[in-house]
Amino acid sequence: MARLAQTAGLTDIQQEILSTVRDFVDKEIIPVATELEHRDEYPQQIVDGLKELGLFGLMIPEEYGGLGESLLTYALCVEEIARGWMSVSGIINTHFIVAYMLKQHGTQEQKDYFLPKMAAGEIRGAFSMSEPGLGSDVSAITSKAVRDGDEFILNGQKMWLTNGGTSSLVAVLVRSDEGHPEGTAPHKSMTTFLVEKEPGFGEVRPGLTIPGKIDKMGYKGVDTTELIMDGLRIPADRVLGGVTGRGFYQMMDGVEVGRVNVAARGCGVAQRAFELGVRYAQQRHTFGKPIAQHQAIQFKLAEMATKVEAAHAMMVNAARKKDSGERNDLEAGMAKYLASEYCKEVVEDAFRIHGGYGFSKEYEIERLYREAPMLLIGEGTAEIQKMIIGRRLLEEYRFQG
Ligand SMILES: Cc1cc2nc3c(=O)[nH]c(=O)nc-3n(C[C@H](O)[C@H](O)[C@H](O)COP(=O)(O)OP(=O)(O)OC[C@H]3O[C@@H](n4cnc5c(N)ncnc54)[C@H](O)[C@@H]3O)c2cc1C
Repeated sequence: MARLAQTAGLTDIQQEILSTVRDFVDKEIIPVATELEHRDEYPQQIVDGLKELGLFGLMIPEEYGGLGESLLTYALCVEEIARGWMSVSGIINTHFIVAYMLKQHGTQEQKDYFLPKMAAGEIRGAFSMSEPGLGSDVSAITSKAVRDGDEFILNGQKMWLTNGGTSSLVAVLVRSDEGHPEGTAPHKSMTTFLVEKEPGFGEVRPGLTIPGKIDKMGYKGVDTTELIMDGLRIPADRVLGGVTGRGFYQMMDGVEVGRVNVAARGCGVAQRAFELGVRYAQQRHTFGKPIAQHQAIQFKLAEMATKVEAAHAMMVNAARKKDSGERNDLEAGMAKYLASEYCKEVVEDAFRIHGGYGFSKEYEIERLYREAPMLLIGEGTAEIQKMIIGRRLLEEYRFQG
C-alpha cells in the first residue's frame, strides 16, 4: 500500500532501524495504547522493549555505547512511535534532550559517567525549565543556586516536568549569582545543574521533592510533575559543562532539537488520524454509499493527506539542516509550528469523519483528540515559534536601504 510521508535518500541502516521500529509500533504499541491511556498506566513493557531496541541510545555516540545515529533517524523513529502513542514518544524525548545536552556541553567526566548509562536506559533523563509562574518567558526564572564551598544550594519550585517521577537525572535550569553581579542580563546568569535522584515520588533526595503526578486531559501514561528544591545540595562538578552562566544557551540548544522532535510527534499523530479517518470513511455508509464517496468527505481526506505530507517534509528538512551542522532554529520553529497546527486540524477532521462514534471512548480518535493540543504548547507555543521565525526572517532579509 502506498504510504504517506515517505523520506527519500535514507541509508540502508536508517531504513532497517525504521522498519524495526514500525513493526514494534504496529505489534506492541497500537494494540494496547488506548487501553493503557484510559487507565493512565505507565507503559513499562513498551519501555522495556524500546530499551532492548536501543532507542534510548539512538543518538548517543558509539564510543559511549549508543548507536550514534543522526537527528533525522531519531525524528523518523519518533514519528513512528507517536503514530502508535504520543505518550511513548514523550518518555524518550526528555531523555534524548538531556543526552544531547550532555554530548554537546558536558565535561569529559560528565559524558563518561552519564552517557553509557543513558545509552543503556539505566539512567533516564528529564529536563526542567518551567516554573509555576513562567513557561514561555524562561528569562524570568526565579529558582536560585548559591555557592557554598564545593557545592551549590538550590531553592525554588519547578513545574511541568515530563518524566519527573520516572527519571533518575534531571537537567534543572536555575539562576546562579556566582560571578554575575546585579544587572547581568538574565540569560547570562543561568546555570544548568545535573541533578541525580531516585525515581518515584515524595522526597527522592534530601532537599528534593517530587510531589506527584499532575492530572492531565491527555498525554497520559507518561508522568508530568512538579519539582520542589528546598536546600538541595549539588556538587559543583554537576554544573553542566563545569562553568556557571551558560545554562540558558545550553537549554535553548536542547530545546531546538526538541522542537524537531515535537514536529515529528505532530507528524506521527496526524498520520494515525489520517489512517483512522480514511479507514472509517470507507466503512461507514450514509445515503446509500460509503461516506468516502461523498465529495465533502473526499475533500477532507485530501486536505488531511496534504497536511501530513507538508508537515513531514518540513520536519525532515529541519532535521537534515541540523545534521549538516548548520543553524536550524528557523526551520525547527517553522516545522514545530506547522506540524502541531496541522496535527490538531487533521485530528479534528478525522474526529468529524467518525461522526458520533468519534466521541466514544471505544474509538481511538477520541484519544488522539485529547493528545493533539499538548503539541501546541510543549517546546514553545505557536506564538513563541512565530517570534523566533519572525526574528530570524528579519535577520536574513535585513533592509539595506
Ligand atoms: C504536558 C506538558 C508537559 C510539559 N513538559 C515540560 C518539561 O518537561 N519541561 C519543562 O521545562 N516544561 C514543560 N512544559 C511546560 C511548557 O514548556 C510550557 O507550558 C510552555 O512553554 C508554555 O508556557 P506557559 O504554560 O507558562 O504559558 P505562558 O508562557 O504563560 O503563555 C500563556 C499564553 O500567552 C502566550 N504568550 C506568552 N508570551 C507571549 C508573547 N511574548 N507574545 C505573544 N503571546 C505570548 C503563549 O503563547 C500562551 O498562549 C510542559 C507543559 C505541558 C502542558
